[in-house]
Amino acid sequence: MVSKGITILGASGSIGVSTLDVLARHPERFHVYALTAHSNVEKLFEQCQQFQPRYAVMVDPVAAAVLEKRLQAADSDVVVLAGAEALDAVASSPDTDYVMAAIVGAAGLLPALAAARAGKRVMLANKEALVMSGQLFIDAVREHGAELLPIDSEHNAVFQCLPSDGKNGVEKILLTASGGPFRTWAASDLHDITPEQAVAHPNWSMGQKISVDSATLMNKGLEVIEACWLFNLPAERVEVVVHPQSTIHSMVSYNDGSVLAQLGNPDMRTPIAYALGWPERLASGVAPLDLFTTARLDFERPDMARFPCLQLAYDAHTRGGYATIALNAANEVAVKAFLGREIGFTDIPLLVKDVMQQASAGTPMNLDDILIQDEESRARSVSWIKNKKIH
Ligand code: NDP
Ligand code: MG
Repeated sequence: MVSKGITILGASGSIGVSTLDVLARHPERFHVYALTAHSNVEKLFEQCQQFQPRYAVMVDPVAAAVLEKRLQAADSDVVVLAGAEALDAVASSPDTDYVMAAIVGAAGLLPALAAARAGKRVMLANKEALVMSGQLFIDAVREHGAELLPIDSEHNAVFQCLPSDGKNGVEKILLTASGGPFRTWAASDLHDITPEQAVAHPNWSMGQKISVDSATLMNKGLEVIEACWLFNLPAERVEVVVHPQSTIHSMVSYNDGSVLAQLGNPDMRTPIAYALGWPERLASGVAPLDLFTTARLDFERPDMARFPCLQLAYDAHTRGGYATIALNAANEVAVKAFLGREIGFTDIPLLVKDVMQQASAGTPMNLDDILIQDEESRARSVSWIKNKKIH
């Protein structure tokens, strides 16, 4: 078996760490070509020592210099590269076969696209990239013969439940949502939620941004848009089902009345192993599901009144690409401001709605227009926060 070279974009994050955990179980099948981070020197140093990649990329040049010094002092052969352009280079190198796209937010778009354009197997965790670029990304995958495998647990579950041609008899996708930590809270209590409460997800251990997105249900909104692009379906055929146990990771409903579901313990190593091994299955280290401990599976409709972000995402997708870029950009700025205690939890949907509604209808046709819309929406979001502080 020829060993596959792997690049992990966002190696120091939650998905990056889980990916390395799976890779370590299969040293004969995979070798690490490149690991990247923004500025977490400590984590990347430790990972370089264990996995000996050819390259380590630090987007922050100061952090890159510190990492280089530390690796030299440890007699390591790992080559350190600095800056965002180096992400594109390691994602598209002929020496990497698979690219794990696990940078958080819009920063992950360009390297994920570079991997698609280089015809790699792109294992996509970074849903924001697809929400921003939609058709452009899907076209790049098709034109360059790349393989796009979803890592997001819901989309990975759907991928596992779809027929081989992706459409035969498929009526609907049922995306499950845990409902987040505030599922049962009264609307009047949401106002005072703190960042600490919002990042404490009941079932999954994840990075800060996606944890807040799960609490607002924006994560599910982004996932609806992600599902439309990945599975080529209109939003009316992607339904959200709240399922607090997070045991069913999503379902596909068929025209003969069948509903196929994928179940498992909530651990990202399962979808990661599936994408790495596909079409084979690989051991992931995840414990088998004990149905007697699980005991019950509950389902509820999402409450779009208490959690308006989900409806905003459906609305944005209906309006088109400019609106989904604005939605994503505004949300990133809002989540950061919430974590920095500049705005409250219930300000997040207000800000996103205002900025999203300022985006023009239609869809950008090229990358420059996507990036301009992203930048403008961020600037509008920053002004929104400033105005709120003044009033
Ligand atoms: P984390 O916050 O844990 O990790 C983010 C990673 O991205 C880190 O390696 C970080 O580096 C890097 N990064 C941050 N900003 C930049 C930047 N500007 N340029 C380059 N690299 C950057 O996030 P998660 O692992 O939780 O999530 C990653 C992606 O996967 C997100 O898009 C998320 O929505 C998606 N996802 C995550 C799931 C999960 O269970 N965690 C589940 C499904 C999807 P540094 O550490 O140096 O800051
Ligand atoms: Mg998910």
